[in-house]
Amino acid sequence: MAERMLQFVRLQQQTPEKRPASQRREDFDEIYARFDPERARAQASRCSQCGVPFCQVHCPLNNNIPDWLKLTAEGRLEEAYEVASATNSFPEICGRVCPQDRLCEGNCVIEKGFHSVTIGSVEKFITDTAWEQGWVKPPTPSRELPYSVGIIGAGPAGLAAAERLRVQGFQVHVYDRYDRVGGLMIYGIPNFKLEKEVVLRRWKQYEAGGIRFHLGVEVGRDLTLAELRERHDAVFIATGVYKARDVELPGSDLAGVVPALDYLTAANRKGLGDAVPAFESGALDAAGKEVVVIGGGDTAMDCVRTAIRQGAAMVTCLYRRDKANMPGSMREVANAEEEGVRFLWLSAPEAFLGAGQVTGVRACRMHLGLPDATGRQQVAPIEGSHFVVPGSLVIKALGFDPEDLPAMFREPALAVTRWGTLKVDHRTMMTSLPGVFAGGDIVRGASLVVWGIRDGRDAAEQIAQYVLAKAGLAQAAE
Ligand SMILES: Cc1cc2nc3c(=O)[nH]c(=O)nc-3n(C[C@H](O)[C@H](O)[C@H](O)COP(=O)(O)OP(=O)(O)OC[C@H]3O[C@@H](n4cnc5c(N)ncnc54)[C@H](O)[C@@H]3O)c2cc1C
Repeated sequence: MAERMLQFVRLQQQTPEKRPASQRREDFDEIYARFDPERARAQASRCSQCGVPFCQVHCPLNNNIPDWLKLTAEGRLEEAYEVASATNSFPEICGRVCPQDRLCEGNCVIEKGFHSVTIGSVEKFITDTAWEQGWVKPPTPSRELPYSVGIIGAGPAGLAAAERLRVQGFQVHVYDRYDRVGGLMIYGIPNFKLEKEVVLRRWKQYEAGGIRFHLGVEVGRDLTLAELRERHDAVFIATGVYKARDVELPGSDLAGVVPALDYLTAANRKGLGDAVPAFESGALDAAGKEVVVIGGGDTAMDCVRTAIRQGAAMVTCLYRRDKANMPGSMREVANAEEEGVRFLWLSAPEAFLGAGQVTGVRACRMHLGLPDATGRQQVAPIEGSHFVVPGSLVIKALGFDPEDLPAMFREPALAVTRWGTLKVDHRTMMTSLPGVFAGGDIVRGASLVVWGIRDGRDAAEQIAQYVLAKAGLAQAAE
C-alpha cells in the first residue's frame, strides 16, 4: 500500500482546473473541469490511510472515503464506485455541492502542512465515470412487496428515501408541487455549481426503477395528508423550508425588491428552457442593472454570481458582519470575488429608496461587539455612518423558515418545534402522527444536500421496519 498511497509527502495538492473568471462570467456552465484519470489517481494516492479517518467521521453519510480513494489510486474505479455509492445516493452531487472545506477535506489529517486530499473532486470523477460506463443502475428490486409508501417532496431527502425503499421492493409514490424532480437541487442551486443534467439523469433512473412521480401535486391544496395516509402504508414528509426570512424596512414593497429564491428559480427555469414571464418582463433579470444582494450565506453567493452571469452593470453584496464571520463557504466567497462582485462588509440596510421602483438602498456601517450567549459577536450600527448604494434590483437573501405545515396540510395534530420545523422522534424519525415520518430541511431547518440524503436513507430504514412490522402483526392476527 505504501507505494501507492501516502503520496502527500511527494505530490502537491491539485484541484481540477478552474475556468478563468472572465470566461465564467459569460455562461452558466460549471466552473471546475473534471480530473483526468491520471490526475484523479495521483490525487487519490495522497491519502494517508490514517487509523482514524476524520474525513469519514465528519461526513454526514460516514462515507468510506479512505477505501474509495485507495481503490481509485489503484485504478479499480468500478469498485471505488460501489464503495462510494454504498453509503451515498448521489455521490456525484455531493462531489459538486458539499462544503468539503467544512466537512471531509477540512478534517483531513494532512490538511495541516500538506493541504487535504481533494476528496470532493475525486468523488465527482468516480461517479461521473460510473455514469459514462453504465455502472449506475436503476433501483430495481429483486422482489415486489405489496406495500406502498407516499413521499411528499422530491428533493434530496425524498429522493434518497425513495431509492432505498424501492430497492427493497416497496411501491414508492413521490408527490411534488414542482414540475420537475430535485427540489432545491433543480430550482435553488445554480447551474454553475450543479449542472441540471446531473439531477435530471437521476430522475430518469428512478423512473426506470419503478418509482412513481406525481408532479404538480401540492399536498394541502390538491390532496390532504389524511388522504395520503389512507392511500399508503406510511408517509414520509420531506418538504424543505421555503418561507423567506424578511426585513421590515421602509420601501420593502417597492418594485424591484425581490426574495432570493424567486430570483434563483427564475434563472434556473430560464436555463432549463422554460418560459418565465417574470424574467422576460425584466423583473427578475439582472441584465444591465445595478444589483444589491443582502445577506452573507450561500444563497446570497448564488444570487450575486447569477447576477454577474446575467450581465448586471454592478453587483454589490451587503453583509452586516465581516468577511471572517460570513456563514457562507469561503470557497464560494472567493469565487464571487474573482468574478467581480463588490462586497461591503459590516454594512446593513436601513431603507429601500425610490418611488414605485427601487433605485437604491440606504445602509449604515456596523461594528462588531462582544459575543452573546451563543458565542457570536453582536453587531451594532455606527451612528451617522449612512450611505447609499444605487440598485434597481435588490435581492433579499436572509435565509428560510418552514411554512406552517399543520395548517397547510390541515392536520393540527402534526407537532412542530418552536421554530416551526417538524417534531420527530430522533430514533424512529416518526412525527406525532403514527406512520408519518419526516426528514431533511423540514426537520433540521435550512441545511445541506448531504444531510437531506442522510435523513432520507435513515428514514427509509425506519419506514421499512415500521411497515413490515405492521404487516407482520396484521398477518399474525388473521
Ligand atoms: C440557493 C440555495 C443554494 C444551496 N446551495 C447548497 C450547496 O451548494 N450545497 C448544499 O449542500 N446545500 C445547498 N443548499 C441547501 C440544500 O439545497 C437543501 O438543504 C436541501 O435541498 C434540502 O433537501 P430537502 O429534500 O429537505 O428539501 P428540498 O430540496 O427543499 O425539497 C423539498 C421538495 O418538497 C416539495 N414540496 C414542498 N411542499 C410541498 C407540498 N405541500 N406538496 C408537494 N411538494 C412539496 C418542493 O417542491 C421540493 O421539491 C442550498 C439551498 C439554497 C436555497
